[in-house]
Order: sequence, then structure tokens, then C-alpha cells
Amino acid sequence: MTESPTKECVLLIEDEVQIRRLLRVSLERVGYEVLEAANGAAGLDEAARRQPQAILLDLGLPDMDGLIVLKRLREWSQTPILVVSVRDRDDEKISALDNGANDYITKPFSTGELLARLRVARRSAQPAAARTTYRSGPLEVDLTTRLVKVKGRLARLTATEYSLLVLFVRHAGKVLTHQQILREVWGPGDVGQIGYLRVYMAYLREKLEADPGNPELFLTEPGIGYRLVAGD
Ligand code: CA
Repeated sequence: MTESPTKECVLLIEDEVQIRRLLRVSLERVGYEVLEAANGAAGLDEAARRQPQAILLDLGLPDMDGLIVLKRLREWSQTPILVVSVRDRDDEKISALDNGANDYITKPFSTGELLARLRVARRSAQPAAARTTYRSGPLEVDLTTRLVKVKGRLARLTATEYSLLVLFVRHAGKVLTHQQILREVWGPGDVGQIGYLRVYMAYLREKLEADPGNPELFLTEPGIGYRLVAGD
């Protein structure tokens, strides 16, 4: 029996057998083909040989730091990579995101959440040029005309607010770290100015959220950054 060639393939780089087994069952149930690697070296090898459509990468591997695996993968691969991290290691999550991970998921995690994150990562890996509008709930952003609407009414944004919004739209569904946002919008000299970012996030929420005090679009990832929910 050979797998159908159209099946999407996910590579698990994870040393814990029980977690691999759990992930395999959940992923196969929704139609993915699953490849497994129990350490970083085998993972790099498998990724190069099989070219999976997504990779789940544990950061705590027996032979090498998962971050090194991530960096090596990113030297040649644009495949979506979800990092599996242990709770309370925000620094680890931040450096994974800064080094090209699409998202992270914290152990212990629900398989429902994992599958949802995987779908978003797969979707955001589609060519960005094809998507020039973002829509989610009341918010509509047209990147070609630069028009931003909330419930069909035009929202007026300053240049900085708009740059910030565009960055989120381009990475909808993905967590952006404080540093990534500051570097992209304000420039490399201002990566330490988290205060600017907080102020501008408040402006954006004020203008674009139905209830700015209870944001449903621009979500805070405590200690790490922000995420704009994936578009409809
Ligand atoms: Ca591990």
C-alpha cells in the first residue's frame, strides 16, 4: 500500500514517543500523512528528503537545541513550522518566532487547538500576492486601495496605525513578537520601545474593535506580542 500522492504530509520532530503517538492519531484522523523523527538530526534529514507541507518541532530534543533545527530548516525551507514549547518559557517562544517559526503551541495542548493552528499556518503559507483583502467579523482591509472599514464604515487611520495594521494583515493568524513589530514599523533603532507599541495597539483597538476593552481581533499574547485573528 502506498499513500496517495495528494495527501498533505506533516513531519513530527519530537523525542517523546507518547506525544508522537497522540499527534499521529489526531493528524491521520483529519487526513494528513505523518512522518516522525525522534531527534534533530533525523528531523533535518527527513525534512530534506520528504519535503513535508508542515513541520511540528519540539524545542527540547536529545541531540541538539530545537532552535538550531529551526534555523537550519529556515536556511532552505519556507514550510510552515509550528514549535511545540513547554509552558512558562516565553523567552523560548520569542526566539522561535524571531527565528522564523510560524507559531507555537504550549504543552500540554489540545489536539483541536493544534489542528486549528496548523490550518492557519498552512493557509498563511499560500502566496500572499493572491490575497489583497482581509476580512474578519466587522473589519475589512483592502491592501490595494488602502481602505479600512468597520461594519462597512470607513475608518481613518494615521500612517503609523496603517503600517501597523498592514503588518498584522500580512501575517494574519500568526503571533508577532514585540521586537518583530517594532523593527518592521518603527525601525531597528526602536526595538526596545514597547511603550510605543502599547500606545498604538490601543489606538488600533479603539478604532477597529467593536469593544476595545475586550479585543476580538487584535489579541494579546502575554509576554510575547500580538496576533491578529486569521481572516474569514
Ligand atoms: Ca522533548
